[in-house]
Order: sequence, then structure tokens, then C-alpha cells
Amino acid sequence: MKTAIFPGSFDPFTLGHLDVLRSALMLFDKVIIAVGYNATKNGLFTPETRIKIIKDSIKGIDNVEVVSYTGLTVNLCKELNVKYMVRGLRTTTDFELERVISQANKKMYDDILTVFIPASSEYSFISSTVVRDVLINGGDAKIFLPEGIEIKNYINQ
Ligand code: ADP
Repeated sequence: MKTAIFPGSFDPFTLGHLDVLRSALMLFDKVIIAVGYNATKNGLFTPETRIKIIKDSIKGIDNVEVVSYTGLTVNLCKELNVKYMVRGLRTTTDFELERVISQANKKMYDDILTVFIPASSEYSFISSTVVRDVLINGGDAKIFLPEGIEIKNYINQ
């Protein structure tokens, strides 16, 4: 069974992330969404809330697990014995950042292969940063989020 990890901050999970997940499930039997957080860096949503948003966003999609972690992503991959890591690419800037990370990860854990999935044209402008900015400024972020996600219900959870 081929399993991949899809790591990220997911602060919060967006339609762009969901699109990458769906593509990853075309390649892998199982995908583990791994919510990475840094105890010294506060996000808008707590790790627990980010997980709740993801679980509510992927209802009806099989073969997906959601976990949270701190520390190096390669250490989690080793721990879970996962050899594939999925990342999404929107822009050439994403590519340059991701290229360096994937090469560093490979140096630290030779068994890992990073698989890049291109953003779909309709979602490539979406980022968690934009969603957070819209929310902080009182806007409606619905168009960026998976169907049925009422983000205001998760704030202050
Ligand atoms: P990180 O802080 O690790 O970049 P993110 O939650 O911002 O975490 O993103 C996780 C992954 O999802 C990254 O590989 C990112 O490039 C990808 N991603 C984010 N938004 C999109 C999108 N709209 N389309 C495709 N990939 C995306």
C-alpha cells in the first residue's frame, strides 16, 4: 500500500489544499495530512481547530488520516515509515522554496521522495495567508474554503 504524507500549516485548510489532496489520492492509496506547528509561533487557529476544519472539509473522502506534529517533517516520515511527501506548487517562487526543502529533506532522509502537484488554475490564487487576512479584516472567506465550512464557527475554539 502506497502512503504519502501531505504536510503543511493548514492555518486554515483551503480549497487549494483540498484540490492537492484529491490529486494525491489519484497517486496514493492513503494520504496522511500532517498539521505542523511550532510551539513558539502562534497561528490564527490552534492545531486542534485546524484538524477539526480539515476533518469537516474531507467528510466523504476515504483513505485520509489527519495528524499533527512538531519538529522536522522527515522525522515524522521516519516515525510513520512513509516514503512519499506531497507538496503543492502554485508559482515559481513556491517551486524555488520547495526545491530547497525537498533537497534538504532528501539529505536528511534518503528514502523520502517529494512529489509536487501543480495547483489547478481555478485555485492557484488561494492561500491560507489570504484567508487569514480576509478573516482578520472582517471579510467573507467562503469562496476560498471547502463547501460547508462556516469559518466563523471555528474562531476562538
Ligand atoms: P506551509 O506553511 O508548509 O507552506 P501551507 O498550509 O501554506 O503550509 O501549504 C501546504 C502545502 O499546500 C504547500 O505545499 C503549499 O504549496 C500547498 N498549497 C497551498 N495552497 C495551495 C493552492 N491554492 N494550490 C496548490 N497548492 C497549495
